[in-house]
Amino acid sequence: MTIPLKSPSPKARYRAVFRCINGCPGDHPLNEVIYQCPDCHDLLEVVHDLAPLRETTPEEWKDIFDSRFMRTFWPFGSGVWGKKEFVCPDVQDENVVSTCEGGTNLFWAEQLGHRWGLQDLWVKQCGNSHTGSFKDLGMTVLVSMVKQMRHEGKEIPAVACASTGDTSASLAAYCAAAGIPAIVFLPRNKVSAEQLVQPIANGAITLSIDTDFDGCMQIVREITGRNNIYLANSMNSLRVEGQKTLSFELCQQFDWEVPDLVVIPGGNLGNVTALGKGFLMMREVGLIDRLPRILCAQAENANPLYRSYLAGFDRFEPVQAKPTLASAIQIGHPVSVKKAVRVLRQFDSGVEQASEGELAEAAAEADLTGLYNCPHTGVALAALKKWVLAGKVNSSDRVVVISTAHGLKFSSFKNRYHARRLEGIESRFANPPIEVPASYDRVREVLFRALESRNAHIAARI
Ligand SMILES: *Cc1c(COP(=O)(O)O)cnc(C)c1O
Ligand SMILES: [Zn+2]
Repeated sequence: MTIPLKSPSPKARYRAVFRCINGCPGDHPLNEVIYQCPDCHDLLEVVHDLAPLRETTPEEWKDIFDSRFMRTFWPFGSGVWGKKEFVCPDVQDENVVSTCEGGTNLFWAEQLGHRWGLQDLWVKQCGNSHTGSFKDLGMTVLVSMVKQMRHEGKEIPAVACASTGDTSASLAAYCAAAGIPAIVFLPRNKVSAEQLVQPIANGAITLSIDTDFDGCMQIVREITGRNNIYLANSMNSLRVEGQKTLSFELCQQFDWEVPDLVVIPGGNLGNVTALGKGFLMMREVGLIDRLPRILCAQAENANPLYRSYLAGFDRFEPVQAKPTLASAIQIGHPVSVKKAVRVLRQFDSGVEQASEGELAEAAAEADLTGLYNCPHTGVALAALKKWVLAGKVNSSDRVVVISTAHGLKFSSFKNRYHARRLEGIESRFANPPIEVPASYDRVREVLFRALESRNAHIAARI
């Protein structure tokens, strides 16, 4: 027996276009190869016609989303494509390239909340995804559009991106699943071993370049600008449309209650833009009636948005990003900064920074409560902790931290932390393995000592 899928208004014609973020006249269809405004050369964004979306009531949409969520009816079981009408209505279902992304769990961080004085703390585990990061949410939309355009006869021989590691892993996997060649530009020695091997395994043409992310970005822009290779970086705003479903999914998982504060790490600033855009769109169509506060978290070593925030967002100056353990956000010249600032201005929002020590300790402290955090999630957690200590968060606030990648992609970071081999970092929560001879008495002695320190109030009886 199959449960019938609920459908929106059958007459509605959903419509979305690219439009210049500075309001230059002229719309561009989503299946056109275009990344910049032809007039002012600034970014484009995807704009949806809200009228057809409003032909279905918010309550009906909620039912529709629930009837699709995490089921197998192609492609609507995906957390992204279950919201297809709000994301990218132009792709035909048979051209969707999906790994059933989205639908990631919300972890109730009860123990961590106890430690930090928060009663309602949650972690949205976006790293529990096909390639281990939230980048899958946007990549499914971009690669599906490429498949659609190839289907329509457009000549797109390959898709390329510059990456701090996770975008390339995602692009490589989705392209492999669709049979489309992928090219990835990685800054040499600046991505983790796990991130480097992902595109290699998926058969992408993998270029390791002696520069940083901003340098790779420059080259890929030139390559894709002068050849018919499609650009997969987040200046391609199709990705933001997919990532936007993060906010939809959060609200859906909370039975359409809006959290009080969402904390998210930011590098190129596509994801914080998407998060905000999702909430704004939901409010416009009546799915929600208020907005959360947003806290964007940056590594102190790559903090141009934080600096701009201190100046009231009135000016923005790129920085030379310094190395950070949070390598995926080691970006000094974020592509989406204008969009991000525009979005953040519409929220009660803030930006906080985290030092290397703060991010590493926060990730490790949270790991002790059952999580397994990547360093970027560490940045978000550290920023939250600073805000709590500064009295900027109420203990009863519902707080959601966006975890952006799986900690298993950053094994060297974890191992070095627990071996106390991260330079300049105390490793306050280090838990190295105990080496002990194969003797009952010695093992027993070691266990007693270890349990005593952990469980001082309960005498160990073993
Ligand atoms: C890409 C990425 C980020 C930053 O997202 P932006 O959209 O570049 O701000 C944060 N964490 C991880 C793990 C990422 O891969
Ligand atoms: Zn323009």
